[in-house]
Amino acid sequence: MATTISQITSVNPATEEVIARFDAFTDEEVDHAVDEAQDAFGAWRQRSIAERGVPMRRLAQILRERADRYARLITLEMGKPITEARAEIEKCALGCEHYADNATKYLADLVIPTNAKRSIVAFEPLGVILAVMPWNFPFWQVVRFAAPALMAGNAAILKHASNVPQCALAIEEAIRDAGFPEGLLRTILVAGSAVEPLIADDRIRAVTLTGSSATGSRIAELAGRALKKSVLELGGSDPYIVLADADLDAAATVAARARNQNTGQSCIAAKRFIAVESVADDFERRFVAAVEALKVGDPLDPSTQIGPLARGDLRDTLERQVHESVGMGARVLTGGKVIEGRGYFYQPTVLANVREEMPVFKEETFGPVAAVLRVGDADDAVRVANDSTYGLGASLWTRDAALGEALARKIESGAVFVNGMVASDPRLPFGGVKRSGYGRELSSFGIHEFVNVQTIWIGPALSAKPIPQAE
Ligand code: NAP
Repeated sequence: MATTISQITSVNPATEEVIARFDAFTDEEVDHAVDEAQDAFGAWRQRSIAERGVPMRRLAQILRERADRYARLITLEMGKPITEARAEIEKCALGCEHYADNATKYLADLVIPTNAKRSIVAFEPLGVILAVMPWNFPFWQVVRFAAPALMAGNAAILKHASNVPQCALAIEEAIRDAGFPEGLLRTILVAGSAVEPLIADDRIRAVTLTGSSATGSRIAELAGRALKKSVLELGGSDPYIVLADADLDAAATVAARARNQNTGQSCIAAKRFIAVESVADDFERRFVAAVEALKVGDPLDPSTQIGPLARGDLRDTLERQVHESVGMGARVLTGGKVIEGRGYFYQPTVLANVREEMPVFKEETFGPVAAVLRVGDADDAVRVANDSTYGLGASLWTRDAALGEALARKIESGAVFVNGMVASDPRLPFGGVKRSGYGRELSSFGIHEFVNVQTIWIGPALSAKPIPQAE
């Protein structure tokens, strides 16, 4: 099973200090965790959806009661500003309540008239789902998978990112304390590729990953070989289009937030800012002012808006992308450098004169770096927006709502927000196209990813012809 690796280490990215070390799970421990989840599944699937909602609501309550402790863990392990970490925990509580309130409706049988006495479509759980999760929203990413998956009657094995082991264990603790059956969601502490063999394990019925496109390809390959269902939520390089009639003050203010929330480490952060030439100077000026007003510093300080990047290697990648793009002609309007001293800090940065062949356009930038391009008109903006291997979210600014909606349909992405910042919402589906992945999380679509869509046909047949013939 899992390849033996030594330790999972938690490092505070604001200070570079090691704050915790854990022995990685042995093969036997992983095996035992999967057995436990499998056992818990047997009884859990028998419970009604309403019964499953009881611990789900209690989980929301526990998250709120422990919000300070859990938010602090997030900040210490991956550097998210504490105010955002608290908001993340509250969002998790809302996500749990959403599925406790709506799962019965989402999973209600469909009664379909056929030649049977009765024919229905039922939604039955699949079994133990393997969830491989990233560090950037260490609680929310897990909850947005787990709340619908557990409400649908599944069990789960969580392999979280190696830099957030304390968050991973805290989530397991919260789920246990909420009164779910023992072992229904088990965290395994193993690093990266060590989890690969588990995908082929017969006890695992499906796999979901939120992570990079490279890891997504690998997981899809292994899931394909094992003929397992997979859902992939991968990277993004979201366009943010500013048309000539946009409200520039609002567009620039929201742009600073859309790029720099979570210190720029969000898959749905706006990354490529595409401004129509006639308003580009004005937009750039206002955008730079809004970015320069952001407060960088200690992520435990409630007034901090930009913390460190989560790991040193992530900052190195960002630095390389900026350096190469500047070498190719991009102009630094603000920032552009590593902040010297302890911690993986990087200056909030805006680059102008960006062209489509530059790394800050072609690659995903996972940090506080904005790339601004100019285009002639709205059609050109859509062409440039679609000139990406990614297709997760997009934002478009115009005072003409009808035009906004018409252009939105031409953009190749899982979501388009007109006059707003892309954000996940439990009521709306979330996911991507192209190299941003496949499948959907959240809403009714998310809960249907990990179910057996089962046809039940009950005879005797009412007529000899299964399908009515055309007259
Ligand atoms: P990553 O390297 O792909 O890591 C994500 C998870 O995959 C971690 O748990 C990681 O474990 C694991 N992993 C790595 N290699 C693996 C392998 N060969 N087999 C199985 N699991 C493996 O991603 P990252 O760079 O840390 O995270 C940022 C990326 O995630 C960005 O591209 C971002 O856009 C994307 N993301 C997407 C969404 C979305 O919803 N679409 C949301 C958030 C983030 P280790 O930590 O142990 O290596």
